[in-house]
Amino acid sequence: MIDTHAHIDSEQFDDDRAEMLERAWAAGVEAIIIPAIAPSGFEKLQAIVESDKRIFRGVGIHPHNATEATDEILEQIEQDATSKRVVAIGEIGLDYYYDFAPKNLQKEIFRKQLRIAKRHKLPVIIHNRESDDDILSILDDEQDGSLEFVLHCFSSSSEVLERALELGAHISFTGNITYKKSTLADVLSRTPIERIMIETDSPYMTPVPNRGKRNEPSFVGFVAQKIADIHTLTIEKVLSMTSQTARNFFRLSLGITFASILTVAMSSASFAQRERDNRETDIEEEVEVVNPYSRTFGLGVMMGTNTVVESIECIADGKRQSRSYEGILLYGLALEYCLTDHVQFEGSYVYSVNNKIVDEKTWPTPNTHQFITLSARFVANPRKPICFFAAVGSSIILNRIFDTHTTQNSFNFGLGLYGNINTSFGILVPTAELKFDFPFSSNQYPDLKCGTSLEYPNGLPANISRFYSLVRFGVQWYPKF
Ligand SMILES: [Zn+2]
Ligand SMILES: [Zn+2]
Repeated sequence: MIDTHAHIDSEQFDDDRAEMLERAWAAGVEAIIIPAIAPSGFEKLQAIVESDKRIFRGVGIHPHNATEATDEILEQIEQDATSKRVVAIGEIGLDYYYDFAPKNLQKEIFRKQLRIAKRHKLPVIIHNRESDDDILSILDDEQDGSLEFVLHCFSSSSEVLERALELGAHISFTGNITYKKSTLADVLSRTPIERIMIETDSPYMTPVPNRGKRNEPSFVGFVAQKIADIHTLTIEKVLSMTSQTARNFFRLSLGITFASILTVAMSSASFAQRERDNRETDIEEEVEVVNPYSRTFGLGVMMGTNTVVESIECIADGKRQSRSYEGILLYGLALEYCLTDHVQFEGSYVYSVNNKIVDEKTWPTPNTHQFITLSARFVANPRKPICFFAAVGSSIILNRIFDTHTTQNSFNFGLGLYGNINTSFGILVPTAELKFDFPFSSNQYPDLKCGTSLEYPNGLPANISRFYSLVRFGVQWYPKF
């Protein structure tokens, strides 16, 4: 489990921070995120984060401290945004309950920090107290599809919840959902489980049964338990799902390691990586999103048909004629790796045998075709029940005509769609794809003589060029990690 919001830099932990952290790790907490509050605390916060690999931080200015947000401080936040182990801008937002800073100033500083987050493609931790309307209207303004945010310690109404979900919000719940007088049960039940994260907001908001004591990250499981009760899920399920959501949202995962290996691919894909689900999608569909897991490695099998379009050209006089073989059965295997939600790589091997009549003397067509293909897929709308993609890549095509083997390199291009089916043993992904392979070069057959079928004189050397269109149906299995 991950405590996505804990002020463990607070002086209330100065005397026993190490013991408190030991209790958290022992309770099964795998990571803690500390949001920033005021510039005066940034240094201490950084030192705590550097003391343990499982601790991460946000940078930003809490609305209480909006008056401290000078240009220099905002510049410092901008620079810190690229620091190691900074995983969010936050906590930022509006607080009209305490009203420590003028509302207009709070709004201005909130907006400026949202823009820093967008520039650095960082998610945002949002604090909202009695400022629902202004929070939502600013988020609505600033949401251009690239803004990812969590409303932390969510305590607003279900109307606010629905509007926030439409804007792409994640929702983080804390100890107050466990209180007897809590009115949040309805809100909690309306929040799709894949948008939920858990937090303690330590040292405040201590959950039942420890209410009255100082709060600390080891108590975060009580929040998860309440979510499990209301969503009628097991606690294990809630913990694994909220942790996965937090890892994705704050990008705490192994993705960072892959990123360093695949920097080039990453930078070209980064525009897509942070793009969230299409905001236009209406709320009903959002709630039905079935796939909370990030897909990583998938294994698959496929079947389909291969159509070979050939043209033969007499080198002597340049005359050519075409024919095609349609519906040759193909079989294949695929290995997929999802770099991001939007970018996937697929390596595949496809085998097809042409059983149709092959005229060896006049116009030989390969008896077997083997495709070894590597492609990158760009997914338009990941994590939906049905997703659409385009693919480009390169293939090596091994052809055999009786005893003659030839190899061609080709460019391939595909369009397709797939479904996400969640099962207890992972995600099953049925896929349909139309793929074209265009070899860079034609096959020359010095021994081949233009045949009678071409109405050409026999005895002239010929050139054969081909392209392939493959209709592939497959199913991939993405095991759960
Ligand atoms: Zn807060
Ligand atoms: Zn906080």
